[in-house]
Amino acid sequence: MTRYHGRMDPRTTRFAPSPSGLLHLGNARTALFSLLAALPDGQFLLRIEDSDRARVSPAFEEALRADLRWLGFAPYMDEAAALRQSQRAAIYDDYLRRLQAQAVVYPCFCTEAELGAERAQLRAQGLPPRYLGRCAGIDARIAQERIAQGETPVWRFRVPAGQEITFHDVVRGPQHVATALLGDFVVRRAQGDAMFFFANALDDALSGVTLVLRGEDHLANTPRQILILRALGLAVPDYGHLPLVLSEAGTPLSKRDGAFSLASLRDEGFLPLAVVNYLARLGAVVGSDRLLPLTELARLFDCRRIGHAPARYDREQLLHWQRLAMAETPLAEWIPLVAHRVPAADRLRFVTATRPNALFPGDYRRWADILYGAPESPDAAARTALAAVGPGFFRAASAHLDAGGAAGDLPAVLKEAGYGGKGLFHALRAALTGRVTGPELKDVLTLMPRALTVQRLARIRDEGC
Ligand code: GLU
Repeated sequence: MTRYHGRMDPRTTRFAPSPSGLLHLGNARTALFSLLAALPDGQFLLRIEDSDRARVSPAFEEALRADLRWLGFAPYMDEAAALRQSQRAAIYDDYLRRLQAQAVVYPCFCTEAELGAERAQLRAQGLPPRYLGRCAGIDARIAQERIAQGETPVWRFRVPAGQEITFHDVVRGPQHVATALLGDFVVRRAQGDAMFFFANALDDALSGVTLVLRGEDHLANTPRQILILRALGLAVPDYGHLPLVLSEAGTPLSKRDGAFSLASLRDEGFLPLAVVNYLARLGAVVGSDRLLPLTELARLFDCRRIGHAPARYDREQLLHWQRLAMAETPLAEWIPLVAHRVPAADRLRFVTATRPNALFPGDYRRWADILYGAPESPDAAARTALAAVGPGFFRAASAHLDAGGAAGDLPAVLKEAGYGGKGLFHALRAALTGRVTGPELKDVLTLMPRALTVQRLARIRDEGC
């Protein structure tokens, strides 16, 4: 048994998704931890587990590859080298023949009805269902004859009796499973295809994976995979099983419903660095509260600092990392988002003024549209602010502009006219932008094209809100 001693050896890890839906935050965290465990000197492999033809689709595969690239994995993975299970049936057959040659597997002809009755009987006795070995003793010659006559058995692994399988889970600690609990398990279906966990264990061993990090829903597969690999004389990787990620409501995330998918976060405008920093701390301790690049997160990553309890998605936390990631992005990167509206000379000043109000990149675009295109229709707070000052306010404002006065002087002029305090600022903002919050009023007044300022104030003067 190998033991995990922190970050001493370069690791070969992998992420092995089934393209049967969009990657959600839980899947992404598994991918991230696997990458972090491999960096800086190890290898991170991508493997596409697409053998369940009925559930997988090329579109989901393309989507998950795009998600990983978006997260920033591209420099650390060789996408073209990704294995695809659907193309490896001959390899699985070959290893099954090796097990057949050793009689470590045997054909099982039990019908569904027989198996169902056996399960029911065990349950009635309060025992967990498992195969009791009815076909384990069938004479090999007789089995051959039945196959020659067209019967299509499944192939079962002969689990050694009375042993205990122990392994050190790098997340959960020592694990012990009595073989008596396993029952002889199917490695190959009657239709001829390898069971998922058989193919999965072979692929890990054959590609030299030394550490498997995956969801704890696969924990029950691990003792069976260890038995298979040992029987074949293949190296057994270290395993670590990650607790589930739950939604805010406490329900498990699903690849099928699209909620909590990376795609939906990306569409909303979350930055990959924010998502990566959030995920690195989702159910794990990083030891720094700074926004860190992947390489730094990898330096601090330690499987032993992953919690044992399910982790719950917390949007507030994600937003916290989003704020930091937005703040760290050089302002120049936002300029292309506003170039369709904002005159070249004003762009840097505009993004500087908008930064405190931009939680997502789309907010830069939105404020450019408001200040240079059309105001948003006033919300309730804006309508209240407009009503509070009354039409005289807008008459005074328009008169100042009509006389050639500068827009930037409007607060002073209106103050002189008897308006003051918050009400003045809210009413001006509401008239010009449709909102009572946003970039500093002095920036709004000096950035907005004069013709629009004149027009918006006159409209409120003439039509009210
Ligand atoms: N294809 C499996 C899944 O998507 C991964 C199994 C594993 O990581 O070992 O859940």
